[in-house]
Amino acid sequence: MKEITSLLYRKKAKNAIEALWANPILEGVQKAVSQKSSGPKGIILLYHNIVAEPPSNSAYFHKVCLTAAEFRRQMDYLARHSRVISLSRYVAILGNASPKIPGSRPLVIITFDDGYRSVCTEAYPVLKQLGLPATLFVSTGFIGKRTALPGEKPYPGVNYPKLSWEEIGELAGDGFEIGSHTITHAHPGGSTLAQYQDEISRSASEIKSRIGIDPIHFSWPYGKRSPMLRTLEPFLRENGFISASYACGGKNTYSSNPYRLNRIGLSAGISPTHFRRIAEGLSITDLLTRKK
Ligand SMILES: [Zn+2]
Repeated sequence: MKEITSLLYRKKAKNAIEALWANPILEGVQKAVSQKSSGPKGIILLYHNIVAEPPSNSAYFHKVCLTAAEFRRQMDYLARHSRVISLSRYVAILGNASPKIPGSRPLVIITFDDGYRSVCTEAYPVLKQLGLPATLFVSTGFIGKRTALPGEKPYPGVNYPKLSWEEIGELAGDGFEIGSHTITHAHPGGSTLAQYQDEISRSASEIKSRIGIDPIHFSWPYGKRSPMLRTLEPFLRENGFISASYACGGKNTYSSNPYRLNRIGLSAGISPTHFRRIAEGLSITDLLTRKK
């Protein structure tokens, strides 16, 4: 109960700060700053479970879920106001100080972690209709199962249906990029370097053997920065990965290290105004990287 209250309080506090920041006077100042070269040049969004109806467990809902209706509204906004590109396309332009990107719309990249079945049933039809590319990071040990990932405490009354390999293959065949999120959703802090290297290389082998595609993007379970993750960057490169993503907020620029990409998590409780500011690169709370 204490955790639910704390979670809801943080959401409310975040929205209150964003509402203050959205004051028209401050908005003008922030837009002027953002348009300078130091402003965000790539907002990577992170989703988990897109649910048809809110689950009964409020803490779970606010942590990793978004309703399908809200997801639809967010994607409609992006289709009209942003330039959504694939993660591969974004990585290809990193390091180029003045890439030729047509138009002036903010660059947005859409990603999903863990491999919830709802990516196929709820998110994919919307993305397909709007022509928006996306990347899915899967923990290969949980494909086809309905169990909670390790480290996620099992919320009462919650199911965790994951995609099957057939569904992942279908998504890949229709333009989804499929990346690795390890095998067991291992916490870097609870693993040795050798164990984590094994999680990376064997998950890549399994994806290749199941759907015939070598994954080239990786996302860190739990998404927190740590010295060990930086130690693993050469190993990722040697194993064919061209990017790795965190999940602790923050912006990216054209000079961002592709193995240290920042992503902003989206879940229930984010108002349409707050989402618009995230997509514009103007959200004060989400552009601050939370260092752990
Ligand atoms: Zn995860």
